[in-house]
Amino acid sequence: MRTAVVVGAGMAGLATAGALARCGWQVVLLERGERVAAPPTALVLWPNGRRALEAIDPEGGWSAIAAPLPDGGVRRPDGQWLVAPRGAGAGPAPAAVHLEDLYDALVAGLGDQVQIRTGFGVTTIRTGRRQRPVVSDGRTEIEADLVVAADGIDSTIRRALAPEAAAVGSGFAAWQAVIPAYRLPELPAEQAAGGETLGAGYRFVSIPLGERAAGHGGVYWVATAAGAPRPEPPATQLALLRRWFAGWHPPVGELLAATHADDLVPQEVRELRPLPRSYGFPSGPGGVVLLGDAAHAMPHHLGQGACLAFEDAATLSSLVTGVAPGAGLCAAIEEYGRLRHPRTTSVVRQTRRMSAVVQARGRLALRARDAALSHMRPRMLPDWTPPE
Ligand SMILES: Cc1cc2nc3c(=O)[nH]c(=O)nc-3n(C[C@H](O)[C@H](O)[C@H](O)COP(=O)(O)OP(=O)(O)OC[C@H]3O[C@@H](n4cnc5c(N)ncnc54)[C@H](O)[C@@H]3O)c2cc1C
Repeated sequence: MRTAVVVGAGMAGLATAGALARCGWQVVLLERGERVAAPPTALVLWPNGRRALEAIDPEGGWSAIAAPLPDGGVRRPDGQWLVAPRGAGAGPAPAAVHLEDLYDALVAGLGDQVQIRTGFGVTTIRTGRRQRPVVSDGRTEIEADLVVAADGIDSTIRRALAPEAAAVGSGFAAWQAVIPAYRLPELPAEQAAGGETLGAGYRFVSIPLGERAAGHGGVYWVATAAGAPRPEPPATQLALLRRWFAGWHPPVGELLAATHADDLVPQEVRELRPLPRSYGFPSGPGGVVLLGDAAHAMPHHLGQGACLAFEDAATLSSLVTGVAPGAGLCAAIEEYGRLRHPRTTSVVRQTRRMSAVVQARGRLALRARDAALSHMRPRMLPDWTPPE
């Protein structure tokens, strides 16, 4: 039996563990936390992410949990359009999904074949030309043909195998919250449809969740501000947000007023700079791959981190389907890096252009930003199709 150890039960690890089990691998999923738990937020699944999830698990019921998002355009804080909304395109629409629903679907997709071990924090990895990779938490060693490092931006495994990549601050702080439907203010349809607003160094995005979402819908919002994360307690941070975004067009103020301090998920925005030189490391008859934020953490401006992780998972599982440990598996591990590195590098480059847009301050910089934005259509990332 081919064996895999997946380290980290975030979205990347859950998706990969399920995908490998479905193509016949015996999988152990290691999570350092005491349980597998979704953060109380939501995200946007862009068409590439949706395609990847469909490829990973066609029976996953993704459409049932993902509410299609109309293009809400981009406004200035006074409500004027920077980029007017486009009508529905021909391809699949992006969709909003509550993370509780997404985690539930990914956990359901693990089936009975994946052994989950929580409270297992990997501290070391051993690789070598003649040995299968081995991970350990300092007490127990686990050896496998394939080790998948899906342990997030501070990945222990990446630090050991690709020390050139460092996790650094991106110069932004972000706040996310889901306001449950029963606490939402009455909003006219146009405002309830959500959208994005760009100020000088500030950004606010609101996204309606489908009525079937966890908590029966509601609104998810993300605020971003250039600068360091705030040290204050959540109630003070919420008061600051209300002050920073005061006077922005509706419904920004209304949504912040309806938010409670314990809804708030504050975060420093970080990224990997540079990216690892490689995502695949053969070891003996198998090897190690980096996947998700462990491989290519980036700021959230284009909402691509999890979508790319699902692409990684779909690519890896298609490459190792039917492949036995030995030369074939080593070649698949190298091919994974060859396919994923250019793709993720290009999305990271576009994300950095968007960072400059969000960071713009001062009259001249804002004028340049406005001119660039209407041409840039930054969300129009090249789409992706799963490998055959
Ligand atoms: C504000 C914001 C908005 C975003 N919006 C979007 C969006 O709209 N669309 C999108 O696609 N992406 C979005 N993202 C990005 C997305 O959230 C991340 O890319 C995604 O969560 C990464 O998942 P992951 O599983 O790779 O890493 P993580 O979620 O960090 O999971 C890593 C897991 O590994 C575990 N772990 C860590 N170290 C160890 C260890 N040594 N041993 C065992 N387990 C370990 C952790 O406990 C954790 O469970 C956003 C990010 C932010 C900050």
